[in-house]
Amino acid sequence: MPPSAQPPRVRFAPSPTGFLHVGNARTALYNWLFARHTDGAFLLRIEDTDLDRSEIRHETQLMEDLLWLGLDWDEGPGVEGPHAPYRQSERLGIYREHTDRLLTEGKAYRCFCTAEGLEAERHEAATAHKPQVYSGRCRAISDADSAARAAAGEPFAVRLLIPDHPLCFHDMIRGEVEFPSETVSDPILVRSSGIPVYNYVVTVDDALMEITHVIRGDDHISNTPKQVAIYEAFEWKPPQFAHLSTILGSDRERLSKRHGATSVASFRAMGILPEALVNYLALLGWGAEGGTRELFSLEELVHEFRLERVTASPAVFDFEKLHWLNRHYLKAADPERIAELAWSHFVSAGLLPSHTAAWQVTTAAVEAWFGKLLALFLPAVSQLDDLPVKAAFVFRFNPSAAHTGDENAAILATDAAQKVLAAFSARVEAHSGPVTPDQFKAWMNEIKAETGAKGRELFHPVRIVLTGSHSGPEFDKLIPIIEEGSRLSLPVHVLGVRERIEQFMSNSR
Ligand code: GLU
Repeated sequence: MPPSAQPPRVRFAPSPTGFLHVGNARTALYNWLFARHTDGAFLLRIEDTDLDRSEIRHETQLMEDLLWLGLDWDEGPGVEGPHAPYRQSERLGIYREHTDRLLTEGKAYRCFCTAEGLEAERHEAATAHKPQVYSGRCRAISDADSAARAAAGEPFAVRLLIPDHPLCFHDMIRGEVEFPSETVSDPILVRSSGIPVYNYVVTVDDALMEITHVIRGDDHISNTPKQVAIYEAFEWKPPQFAHLSTILGSDRERLSKRHGATSVASFRAMGILPEALVNYLALLGWGAEGGTRELFSLEELVHEFRLERVTASPAVFDFEKLHWLNRHYLKAADPERIAELAWSHFVSAGLLPSHTAAWQVTTAAVEAWFGKLLALFLPAVSQLDDLPVKAAFVFRFNPSAAHTGDENAAILATDAAQKVLAAFSARVEAHSGPVTPDQFKAWMNEIKAETGAKGRELFHPVRIVLTGSHSGPEFDKLIPIIEEGSRLSLPVHVLGVRERIEQFMSNSR
């Protein structure tokens, strides 16, 4: 950027009609990164002119989602700036003034065509194999007639008079884009209901808010020539455009709910960390200069991000890779933060209490215990909501399922297993006080010598008794978790070693 140039101004302009999904979140991220990299400004503008579909809860949620991702705005709702208001529903007066200006200058005209009339015209064009665009018939109405009909209360839309030269723009990602004007037709700016349309308000706002770069999804490419024509009509300099490629699912169809979670809120609820999602979204269509590097913090992305390195080809959303990044950040993050987040997933699963006053009494002991539980299970999960599932057997041991589950029945049916379990049970019964990992190890050595069982024969039956499954975490770590857990007061009583073997043996009789 030459030193004299104004710093760039970009915006993220969501419609609050649903959840913020990954496509829009990536658009927001790229805008934010571009602004932060160039010391520019990042604006948030709420495009809520579709009053039937816009909801305040969606607006609130999407702002929460942006902040959760670490994307703050320099101007927008809550951060009023020189171009306020930043909600389109509060700018209707501004659009009206601009419409009057276009009508007065003869750049736009009133269109009195009815829906039926337009439909008939489209049908005719289709039959004649011509482009189904508006014929422009109301262009011919004189100014005086037009004003009189409007004054008499006849409903009308306002249309832009499209120039008859091709409409082109330079796209920073795709290069030159050109649309012949006959494929554009005279676009409606204001509907007969009085509500201005997206293409119109977006252009007026981008111009008035001094947006220098419009970075958005490529679903808006076909809108851009209309917007370019609106800039022309107002004699405004258009911004630079950069259209981001579509995000596809693994089947190479446009990413949608069919492919699973797509909203930022659902990733958050699953226990994907914001730094993992941001890192992942950054890589969906962008790569750093000259490298295969894939791990980037938000600050590193600010440093590295260049629009020129954004690719025009569609990006395929890869859950595996997101999981890989999430596992990386789960490991790298501050353990206290992860413990707090993980805890809430156990609360949702009904396994641990929410942080109430009553619970505070046991907080230190429970927290220490929970730390061990996490150390054991965290490396085995890709997202935090998998934790309660992985750790379920700690909280809910089901002796009858342990007998029949998976390949358990076959393992337990062997003579060796019977002998091992009888010997193990006898030792636990004769023991008082907690079972330590050392104690457990000593018993297993004794049982090995006594029964001649070794390896799987020795360990699988005992593991089934303690966990319900013949495969699972190391005993050294597991034993303290179930023993200590059994002495804590938790909403779900954790069974200790003794209770497990007792329930298991009585269930087999
Ligand atoms: N409200 C539009 C959308 O959510 C914004 C498009 C644009 O960035 O121009 O798709």
